[in-house]
Amino acid sequence: MSAKRTALVTGANRGIGLETAKRLAQTGLRVVLTSRLGVDAEKEAKKLAAEGLDVLPEELDVASEDGAEALAKKLAKASVHVDALVNNAGVYPQRGVLDAPLESFRDALEVNFWGALRTIRAFVPAMVRAGYGRIVNVSSGSGSFGEGLEGPAPYCASKVALNALTVKLAQELRGDIKVNSVCPGWVRTRMGGTGADLAVEESVDTILWLATLPASGPSGGFFRDREPIPW
Ligand code: NDP
Repeated sequence: MSAKRTALVTGANRGIGLETAKRLAQTGLRVVLTSRLGVDAEKEAKKLAAEGLDVLPEELDVASEDGAEALAKKLAKASVHVDALVNNAGVYPQRGVLDAPLESFRDALEVNFWGALRTIRAFVPAMVRAGYGRIVNVSSGSGSFGEGLEGPAPYCASKVALNALTVKLAQELRGDIKVNSVCPGWVRTRMGGTGADLAVEESVDTILWLATLPASGPSGGFFRDREPIPW
């Protein structure tokens, strides 16, 4: 295996995903910067490449049935092996159990749960074969029963489901392959809004840590500020 690791980040054209892609590249990884629209990935990757960073743009709509699988095949053909996967792409449909359109529940689950599941199933088997992998599911305190599931119902339900995926996958994985959930905190992005606590630059430390954990690091956990938080 080459010494240089490769990380793939979903929803990396803006917000937390873009910052994660940039900072992973700055630590010396090659980054596959993916976005729902290929043109956005190209645009952001070009800027990072101009800073000397090793970034490969790719289109990945995580809501598409076979997008992740097709991308995994394309990258494998180009001898690009993904060592770390950051499932960051997310949507934030509003309202409650009784008043949110059913479509909002479908949308939230489609991107926040199914999107991560499809991407995991596309990329983790090769990690298993290689004996190394780091999977980071960007979740939220809104997916924590222990923190009261605060937030809109479709979003909370989708992040709870994502967290279940973290635990179940950790139970299945053997060897030096780790999967964890992370809450980045409340962050000033399009999703978080302008009144949020954290600048985007302050929000990715735990994601970077989990994406590059040493072999002695945790798996099957849920973290904020590098500390465990309740499910
Ligand atoms: P943004 O709204 O700024 O960014 C969301 C990203 O997800 C965009 O790049 C968007 O792409 C992408 N995305 C949405 N749907 C798809 C799709 N079908 N396929 C691929 N990409 C898609 O949000 P944040 O950066 O704030 O959020 C990133 C993650 O962090 C999310 O999972 C969110 O739930 C989580 N989080 C955020 C918090 C916050 O306070 N901001 C708090 C807790 C968790 P496009 O531009 O094409 O729409």
